[in-house]
Amino acid sequence: MAKKSRPKAAAKKIIKKKVASPKKKTSPAKASGDVFSSLLELLRRTSAELPDDIQKVILEALSREEKNTTAEYALKIIQDNIALAKKKSQPLCQDTGTVLFFISHPANFDQIKFADTARKAIVKATELGYLRQNSVNSVTGKSEPSNLGPGHPTFHFHQHKSANVEVRVMLKGGGCENVGIQYSLPYGPIEAGRDMAGVRKVILDGVVKAQGQGCGPGVLGICIGGDRSSGYLESKEQLLRKLDDTNPDKALHELETDIVASCNRLMIGPMGFGGKTTLLGCKICSQQRVPASFFVSISYMCWAYRRQGIVLGKNGAISKWLY
Ligand code: SF4
Repeated sequence: MAKKSRPKAAAKKIIKKKVASPKKKTSPAKASGDVFSSLLELLRRTSAELPDDIQKVILEALSREEKNTTAEYALKIIQDNIALAKKKSQPLCQDTGTVLFFISHPANFDQIKFADTARKAIVKATELGYLRQNSVNSVTGKSEPSNLGPGHPTFHFHQHKSANVEVRVMLKGGGCENVGIQYSLPYGPIEAGRDMAGVRKVILDGVVKAQGQGCGPGVLGICIGGDRSSGYLESKEQLLRKLDDTNPDKALHELETDIVASCNRLMIGPMGFGGKTTLLGCKICSQQRVPASFFVSISYMCWAYRRQGIVLGKNGAISKWLY
C-alpha cells in the first residue's frame, strides 16, 4: 500500500503548481458595518486564512513526520504557504473553489435579499482577487467573469431558534471534490456488506483510491445513509465541524478515530509521497435510509481547508468569528 517517496524536486514542482499566487495583491476590506462588507471580508478571510483548528493539526502532522523525508518537506511547504497567504492576504491556492454558503437564521429572515447581497460580494471579491474566476458554463465551456451562474454560488438556508444569523462559507477546491465518492452497499468489489463493517471497508477503499490526489493530507466528511443527494450534502456539512470537536454519538466517534488512525497507517502520505499523514481528520454523521438503499457518501477536503464563519450583528456588521 505504501508509495515510494518521490524526489524533493518533484514535490516542490507539484506543490508550487497547487499554490501559485494570484496576480493581484489583495488587502482586507474596510469594515463599514453592513452585510455586503461583512460578506466581502468573510470571503477574503476564507480564501486567505486557514482557521486555527486546521493549522493546529497541520503543525501536529509536521512534527510527526520523519525528518528529511519528502513528506516532511511537503508539509513544510504547505506550512510556509499558509503563513505567506495570510501575510499577503492572498488566496491559499490558485483554485479558490466552489463557493458554498450555509446560513442559519431565525424566522422572518429575508433569504432572497441575503442571496442578492452575497452574489454582489462574490462579484466584488472576484474583482479584488480574493476569488479566481472559477465558474464555467458547462455547455459552452466559457468562464463567467462575474463568478456567478446557475448553481454558483450555492446557498443552504437553515432556520434555527436562535436570534443570531450565522453565515458559514466553504471554498471547495475541484481537485478534492473530484476524489469524493459515493458507495451503494452492498459493494461487491471489496465484499462490503450492509453493516458498519461494510461502511468501514468502503471508507478505507475511498482513501486508497484517492492515493493522496486531491492534495492530501485531507479531511473526510462522511454521511452514512440518506439518499444520493442528501447524503452528499450532509457529508459536506460535516466539514463545517471543528476538527477538535467530539461526535456526541459514541459509535460514530469511535469510527472517526479508527478511520484516521487506519488511514494514516496506509502510508500514502502528503500528496501521495508516502509518510505518516494521509488524513488530518474525519467527521461522520448518519441519516435514516429506506430498506432498499444504503449509501455511504464521502466528501474529501484538501489541506487548503477553507471554511470560515461569522455571526452578523443587528446592523449587519461582524459580531463574532465562528472558527
Ligand atoms: S485540491 Fe485544494 S489544494 Fe489542491 S488545487 Fe484544489 S483547492 Fe488547491
